[in-house]
Amino acid sequence: MPRVLIAEDEAAIADAVLYALRSEGIEADHCLLAREVAPRVRAGGVDVVVLDVGLPDASGFDVCRELRGFSDVPVIFLTARNDEIDRVLGLELGADDYVTKPFSPRELVARVRARLRRAGGTVKAVEGEWTARGDFAIDRDGHRIRYRQQLLDLTRYEYALLDALLQRPGAILSRAQLMDRGWDSDADSADRTVDTHVKTLRAKLRAAGADPDPIRTHRGLGYAIEA
Ligand code: CA
Repeated sequence: MPRVLIAEDEAAIADAVLYALRSEGIEADHCLLAREVAPRVRAGGVDVVVLDVGLPDASGFDVCRELRGFSDVPVIFLTARNDEIDRVLGLELGADDYVTKPFSPRELVARVRARLRRAGGTVKAVEGEWTARGDFAIDRDGHRIRYRQQLLDLTRYEYALLDALLQRPGAILSRAQLMDRGWDSDADSADRTVDTHVKTLRAKLRAAGADPDPIRTHRGLGYAIEA
């Protein structure tokens, strides 16, 4: 049974969304505070997060960034203002969708359903074609990468980075080249964005037993991988 977590401090909105989802047979939980979201997602069983931008203890943007450090669970933002939409659309947040207040609960349910369908498609994907690259194996159709037989739990950006590096083991790819492969963003934040995702990717590889670190930093040039 798919489960949706709604982080929203306005009771009337939360109740309407919970009611709409549950009446469509989608299990839904609710929390009021930003700090409750990540622990619940970490605990597992959350298939989609519906995230209010204006939460009492932190912004939904902060929550989304935190989630993207360890999960690619789909995030749908609830936004109240146009300037919030601009930030949601800045892809570095890793949001999957948004709805603008006031919205109809039916519209939100349709967005949630679309995310669940997409996520379900990934989960159900049959064993794909795995291409070996040293200790790594890539299933490009399934957007999955294994390290020594262990499936890495990557965000889409981490996947894009690692995939790009593994296409040409040993070759140095600049941050701009890596950016092109992964996502759109303005040039100002490009370097830092790539560095941030490389950092989380390295942590995951280390957790999977990669020692020494297979990703090499080439100062002033970019990154390369030893596969
Ligand atoms: Ca709010």
